[in-house]
Amino acid sequence: MVRSINELTDLKGMRVLVRVDFNVPLTDGRVSDAIRLDAALPTISYLLARNARVILVSHMSKSLASLEPVYIYLRHTLPISFVADVAGVPAHQAASGLKDGQALLLENIRRNPGEEANDPQFAKELASLGDIYVNDAFPVSHRAHASIVGVPALLPSYAGFQFLKEVEGLTPALTPQSPSLAIVGGAKLVTKLALIQSLLLKYDQVFVGGALANDFYAAKGYQVGKSLVSGSDEAKGLLLNSKILLPETVTVSNAVHREDKPANEVGKEEMISDIAPASIDALAPVVAKARTILWNGPMGNFENGFTEGTGVLAKLVSGSAGNTIVGGGDTLASIQNLGLMEKFSFVSTAGGAMLDFLANGTLPGIGALEIKD
Ligand code: ADP
Ligand code: MG
Repeated sequence: MVRSINELTDLKGMRVLVRVDFNVPLTDGRVSDAIRLDAALPTISYLLARNARVILVSHMSKSLASLEPVYIYLRHTLPISFVADVAGVPAHQAASGLKDGQALLLENIRRNPGEEANDPQFAKELASLGDIYVNDAFPVSHRAHASIVGVPALLPSYAGFQFLKEVEGLTPALTPQSPSLAIVGGAKLVTKLALIQSLLLKYDQVFVGGALANDFYAAKGYQVGKSLVSGSDEAKGLLLNSKILLPETVTVSNAVHREDKPANEVGKEEMISDIAPASIDALAPVVAKARTILWNGPMGNFENGFTEGTGVLAKLVSGSAGNTIVGGGDTLASIQNLGLMEKFSFVSTAGGAMLDFLANGTLPGIGALEIKD
């Protein structure tokens, strides 16, 4: 059980340390995709409207970049200031200058090595900036970092609205209603193994596409030519599980052509770049009956133009009457490009955190919020 910030009504003058996920893409020093910033607004606005003093903590993963562009974006919408410091004297001074109903954004927290190391002294310095702690950063909550697990051990802790939305949206995928179908694609089998193993325990069928399928073809003894394969042995064992479904027709390419062909007829010089529409036609009856469908991972090498498999599958799944739960960094981008965001029951904005939550049923950042009595 985690507590929601809904329970917090008397917030006047309270210093609230909020872990947000402001790790957004920048182009020429400006925010180029604000989805994650906008997603944090309900929590921040809720706290500010109740006259709290809000201290925002985030990381930016790329080259330890500054969060100042995020501040420049947000200052149009929020009464916010920025301090180019994480938890030192300047941060404490800026925080103590806050008035009720004002927000302060701290600098990229990963600039302090104590964050990723979950250093107890650093967690203490950070925690001393607030009276209470709120986690609204579900996509980072698979990391046992100071701002995710260290601080909530020291302060009364709550979950923000975006965090709860993710937990509530993904939880039904942990106990799927039969008939159920999981679809897993992407590039590297090792990053999806724990997920696939856990899905095989709960789902009636697991369709494996994208480059992950190549490992399975190779395990079956098919020629995979120049296709991307991980080279791990794990597919061999998984193949024995009759719940696994594989695309039977693939789109192959080489320097001069592309064509659809049966997965067991790939040539030495060819590369499997996508699943063919025929494979999705074959999956259609399973989708039509499914009451829960979980989907993570693109079906093809979409960056190089192989978008068809993912597109056709997205249309099919989004038309299902069942509970359709989708997520993953690249999967989300594909669905956004297709304009299908609203057509699924739930679209997660989390990448690795979603995979870990689905594989383990919880995350370090969830455990850290749990009420212990
Ligand atoms: P997500 O971020 O949604 O979890 P992944 O990161 O696991 O997805 O996988 C996305 C990557 O998988 C993309 O870079 C895409 O090009 C790659 N991919 C999918 N199918 C293939 C394929 N057949 N060959 C090469 N790359 C592929
Ligand atoms: Mg990815």
